[in-house]
Amino acid sequence: MSHPGTPTATWRVLNLSLELDEPESVLRARAAARAGVSADEIRGLRLGHMALDARRRGARGRVRFVVHVDLQLDAGLESRGNAAFAKALRSGRVIPRMPPAQLAVNAPHISLREGSGSGPRVAVVGSGPAGLFAALALARSGVLVDLIDRGPVLTERSRAVAQFLGTRNLDPEANLLYGEGGAGTYSDGKIYTRVDHALEAPILDEWIACGAPEEIAYDARAHIGTDRLHRILPRIREGMEALGVRFHWRTRLEGLVVDGLAGSQRVSALRTSAGELPCAAVFLALGHSARDSLETLAAQGLMLAPKPFQLGVRIEHPQGLIDTARFGEAALARRLGAAYYSLTSRAGAGAAAAHSFCMCPGGQIVASVNEAGLLCTNGMSNSRHSSPYANAALVTTLGSSETGPGVFAGIDYRERLERKFFVEGGGDWTAPAQRACDFLAGQDSEELVSCSYKMGIRPGRIDALLPEAVRSALGRALEYFDRQIPGYAGPEALLVGIESRSSGAIRMPRDEATRRATGFTNLYPVGEGAGYAGGIMSAAIDGARSAHALLGQGTGG
Ligand SMILES: Cc1cc2nc3c(=O)[nH]c(=O)nc-3n(C[C@H](O)[C@H](O)[C@H](O)COP(=O)(O)OP(=O)(O)OC[C@H]3O[C@@H](n4cnc5c(N)ncnc54)[C@H](O)[C@@H]3O)c2cc1C
Repeated sequence: MSHPGTPTATWRVLNLSLELDEPESVLRARAAARAGVSADEIRGLRLGHMALDARRRGARGRVRFVVHVDLQLDAGLESRGNAAFAKALRSGRVIPRMPPAQLAVNAPHISLREGSGSGPRVAVVGSGPAGLFAALALARSGVLVDLIDRGPVLTERSRAVAQFLGTRNLDPEANLLYGEGGAGTYSDGKIYTRVDHALEAPILDEWIACGAPEEIAYDARAHIGTDRLHRILPRIREGMEALGVRFHWRTRLEGLVVDGLAGSQRVSALRTSAGELPCAAVFLALGHSARDSLETLAAQGLMLAPKPFQLGVRIEHPQGLIDTARFGEAALARRLGAAYYSLTSRAGAGAAAAHSFCMCPGGQIVASVNEAGLLCTNGMSNSRHSSPYANAALVTTLGSSETGPGVFAGIDYRERLERKFFVEGGGDWTAPAQRACDFLAGQDSEELVSCSYKMGIRPGRIDALLPEAVRSALGRALEYFDRQIPGYAGPEALLVGIESRSSGAIRMPRDEATRRATGFTNLYPVGEGAGYAGGIMSAAIDGARSAHALLGQGTGG
């Protein structure tokens, strides 16, 4: 606890060790010693980051936690001649911690209290994390917002998803990609990022306030899980409605009403499937799968550019195989939770680099599709990671040298392969699958191991279906990863395909400072569909940052 009235500063003490059996209370003395201060000088303490270090250490094969602790100390301590503290700072064991940003910003000069009174509101298109947190940051700052999404509210969306799984009838507007919460609503809900951004803390706080566990604030592998996400999202929505946000479900953006001269155009209204919606500004948070919308917007003069994207397969193992490799014994998973991995292989011997991505411990493979005739897989899991399967994307990066030139060349390339896999699976979202060892040997899998994918699998020659650039990259990665996780490419490892939407293939160029789309004065492209995010947290940060840009308060970094 901090002493009321005493100004404090926050410092992060890095790399404290915590044994599995030790209580967190030991960290106070340990942090004080490492920072060169006495425990009495600590005015407040919280876990900043906690990661399991499962690397084997000597003969004991010890698994432990590595913890960063945030200490509140009296302001100015660094200039009070404490030699031990000064040494800790010089060594980099202790670093200053910037105060977290706020979602709400005070921008009284903005005549935009956009949407005040009867004037047009700010329109946000897309209720995924980018759109949601753009809208929330605006609403918290006093701006009135209309949020539209082509998909339905969560209860209706869940019914459509259940119907798809049960009957294979796909609703192209209500599925694993479209509807309340966006693409991550049926996911592992992993929310850690590689970027350390000041907006991460307030975004995490929103999730925690709406029911996410407090550990997400520091857990290096924080995940929410589909079950909890489905309780949290309606609470976020209700809070936003209380702030005046109007949600328009089943409302598809079909065009923009634009005025002004080329180079400084202004969007005055959205054309939607439910009629025209006037707007003071618009945030485009469409995700990476709305090809129809992108084509319409491109035809209306919105600049689009191709960007590199990832493509490969889903790989699945028994979770016990991963637990044993990571913890030394599968039984530890009962205590520590299902083990995860993140692996990378470098380019070499004529093959491109590849990596694992979006690993779902104790999860299941799902068909993340929004269109008939296309197959694309991804992974999700519940908060307890309780399924006996571990799946992850195994992907390589492709660009115009593989796809050819053109804005839509990446999407065309991706869709050709998605169609091929759909047909190979039998045309009903059954997925082609091949054991990893058969993929490497270039042969049929006569027998497949069991798989979490509820739409079913059938033997397919994934090695032959994939383009050579992808096949060779994944082959090299499998051999390399097998040395790190024994059995990774063994007979229990199953490849299921295709995994083609780990990232978007298009970017909407925008000005770095104003974050407005090139040529527009009030259009803000955000999130994964705009090419500026690759996951739930990065999309949420991107949306909120652009909201701050509209309010004239850059949240840099
Ligand atoms: C199955 C699955 C699992 C995933 N797991 C994770 C994970 O564990 N961790 C992680 O960080 N990331 C995960 N991801 C990726 C993550 O979900 C995305 O990176 C993130 O959702 C992107 O956010 P976004 O807001 O940019 O777009 P999206 O979340 O895709 O949201 C876009 C929204 O826009 C709407 N929309 C599209 N076109 C229109 C239109 N014309 N009019 C109106 N509305 C429109 C859509 O209905 C959708 O709701 C997963 C993705 C999938 C599919």
